[in-house]
Amino acid sequence: SAMPSPPTCRYCGSPWDQYQLCSTHFCCQLVLSCSACRQGGHTACCPTCQTKGQGEEPSATPTQREECTDGWPRIPQDAL
Ligand SMILES: [Zn+2]
Ligand SMILES: [Zn+2]
Repeated sequence: SAMPSPPTCRYCGSPWDQYQLCSTHFCCQLVLSCSACRQGGHTACCPTCQTKGQGEEPSATPTQREECTDGWPRIPQDAL
């Protein structure tokens, strides 16, 4: 019977068992990335997240919400 393989860093394959959240804030997946790889910027669970995490503003609003509010009637500032 095969021994269960120890957890390893997903980027370099060295033994590592400290799960961290993916650096992309909307992903919420756990990733095994060793300290050396994290210092190298490998903090996401996958290449897609890695690219997204670097390219998007944290304060950006979802596109779906913008499309939704776009159809709302405009209330004049005087009425408030
Ligand atoms: Zn590593
Ligand atoms: Zn991710």
